[in-house]
Amino acid sequence: ASDTYTQPRTAPAGTGTAAPGPTGPAADAGRGGWTPGSWRSRPAAQQPEWPDPGELRGVEDTLALRPPLVLPDEILDLRRSLAQVAAGEGFLLQAGDCAERFGSCTEAGVRGKLRVILQVAILLTYGSGLPVVKVGRIAGQFGKPRSRPTEAVDGVELPVYRGDIVNGPEFTAEARRPDAGRLLSAYHHASAALNVLRALTLGGYADLGQVHEWNQEFVRRSPAGQRYEKAADDITWALRFMSACGLDTRSQAALHQVQLYTSHEALLPQYEQALIRYDEKRRGWFDTSAHLLWIGDRTRRVDGAHVELLAGVDNPVGVKVGPTMGVDDLRELCERLDPDRAPGRLVLISRLGAGRGAELLPPLLRAVRDAGHAPVWACDPMHGNTFVSASGYKTRRLSDITTEVAEFFAVHREEGLHPGGIHLELTGDDVTECLGGDLDEVLDTHLASRYETACDPRLNAAQSIELAFGVARLLRE
Ligand code: PEP
Ligand code: MN
Repeated sequence: ASDTYTQPRTAPAGTGTAAPGPTGPAADAGRGGWTPGSWRSRPAAQQPEWPDPGELRGVEDTLALRPPLVLPDEILDLRRSLAQVAAGEGFLLQAGDCAERFGSCTEAGVRGKLRVILQVAILLTYGSGLPVVKVGRIAGQFGKPRSRPTEAVDGVELPVYRGDIVNGPEFTAEARRPDAGRLLSAYHHASAALNVLRALTLGGYADLGQVHEWNQEFVRRSPAGQRYEKAADDITWALRFMSACGLDTRSQAALHQVQLYTSHEALLPQYEQALIRYDEKRRGWFDTSAHLLWIGDRTRRVDGAHVELLAGVDNPVGVKVGPTMGVDDLRELCERLDPDRAPGRLVLISRLGAGRGAELLPPLLRAVRDAGHAPVWACDPMHGNTFVSASGYKTRRLSDITTEVAEFFAVHREEGLHPGGIHLELTGDDVTECLGGDLDEVLDTHLASRYETACDPRLNAAQSIELAFGVARLLRE
């Protein structure tokens, strides 16, 4: 497939458009003058102040010559799978870190995240009987929108940490200075993480025969972990049953490998533009930094840079839908991002907060449906339920998370629509970042003991599995 790429063309110096030019025949057709760099004339929210624009341009030029991280064929496979989900014949699981660290792009780091994603996915598959499309917040989720541009400690004010792709978290002027070289590091760390991920998902680790191995000791101690063991026994038994019936389960690739797609928030448009490629054979532009890119709740202005950037690529595109999203805003966003009404092009990720779905969601669902779009509607029960606890930690309650998911399902059922997926921040590690859980319940006083996230609080493996059982039950109802 790679032979059909347009070679990235470095723009003449000083034009500010470092990535490939609009060389594709279909570049502008029907896309309102879109080019990979047309976002540059739009306001871009949540951007660092890059201290050296010349250095940034140099990095963009270098990135534009690097190989794609993912290929158009894979991106189109994901689109087809999402179209199936949109038709009610599947479920989307999008999950991973809030913010990945460069330092966790190791074999152990990737394996740990993959393990819990596989556990949640198999519970959803087994519990619902639906194929589960797995998308990680992984191999590139390095940039973070923040509520304030600076942070003050003891009278010292410094730029806020915006994720490893921009600066470092340490509270020093040196670490917090935006460093364009980090865009290049992000590419290399994403590439390394993806390499391990591909090996683990194609090799033996994701084999359904390993379903017990995915459970970790600390999880096994929890009631959710024990229920998982039982489900894993049942699955192992079902595999034996199939072989006993004469089915050659060894030759069924689907039982021995998984497809885990990658995704991240497309927050830094220079990075994304540098990885956009034109594919001659498919006559389309692809952002090859990940299979799916999403636009955050803080950067979703319809006339803003982030929406413009993703309007012209053929990847599936996610949009976070927060409580301030108006019906007209959403209609315009869908029109701009999905003018062709292509099933599976859009993933609309509602993150309204527990207790708000019944009021806010129905008009949004109806507006999108009435305008003729067939998106995947997914529920992010994390970002509308964040608060600072008495002990001073940013946290979320598992009970709020399950409530928001339940409300999301209930509203979809009432509207006759398919609740298409969930979007979670989780980790395989035994952290104490979210409150609640059925054993060793995490209380406010526990948060300090293993609070390790680089940004938002994540579910630990036991909490994730408990939630997965709940979602599987809702899917079955
Ligand atoms: C996130 O997904 O980490 C995030 C910042 O979400 P949102 O844009 O919905 O606030
Ligand atoms: Mn987050």
